[in-house]
Amino acid sequence: MKQPRLSLAGILGLAVLLAGCVTEPETGRQRLILTPAAMESNLGAQAWADVRGTEKATASSKWSAAVARVGRNVADAANEPTYQWEFECFASEQANAFCLPGGKIAVYDGIFQYMANDAELAAVIAHEVAHATARHGGERMTQAMAVSAGALALGVALKDQTAESRETWLLAYGGISTVGLLLPYSRVHEYAADRIGLMYMARAGYHPEAAVHFWEKFSEGKGGGGSISDFLSTHPADAKRIAELKRHLPQAMAEYNRAPKRHGFGEVYR
Ligand SMILES: [Zn+2]
Repeated sequence: MKQPRLSLAGILGLAVLLAGCVTEPETGRQRLILTPAAMESNLGAQAWADVRGTEKATASSKWSAAVARVGRNVADAANEPTYQWEFECFASEQANAFCLPGGKIAVYDGIFQYMANDAELAAVIAHEVAHATARHGGERMTQAMAVSAGALALGVALKDQTAESRETWLLAYGGISTVGLLLPYSRVHEYAADRIGLMYMARAGYHPEAAVHFWEKFSEGKGGGGSISDFLSTHPADAKRIAELKRHLPQAMAEYNRAPKRHGFGEVYR
């Protein structure tokens, strides 16, 4: 009888998969991440230096203090001591926020037109902190590498075709598979960041119902006169998103009730 045999490539491939399999915090989702965490933080730190060089700090000491205060509390609750957390509030009409790998979080002060209190700000900051601790940037870079490897394989497969048709195929493939650091996250990443973020804000002592308040208000575009299209383009606020948050509320409330210090809805802005 013939024994099943693994080829060297198969063994190497398996080793890469085992080494690169990373469990997402709170959700337990298994992902393949081939980028070393230190490399992600370096890329994040470089991009952060660019952001700080380009963007203007907010003119409001109230908003910069709120971002620093809530950011520190949420980062403490996330309990990831290897991260070099930095939280900055920039001046912009945009109602937006984003994170860079390794723990650099930017909040544009335009988002405060939708914020009623510290707890709602904690919901947004905790969502961004969750993208960082869940290493969604690394997961996307890994997907991009797989896509490049796919393109390479496709090039080999197409080597007998005419040069012209090969070019067309590769262009089409490249066009649908470009992945950048600041492109919108997938729905999978968005729901994961919401769920993880909900636990972080609750452990930081902010009432988790504020996350539902914020997203409901935000999805209706209430509370401000400015454009919400920027944040919505990267954070679609649909019925499923809000339903998912509500589904995880009981667990978040249990975390909140165990929190060492409870702020409720925290400082009220208006
Ligand atoms: Zn997000």
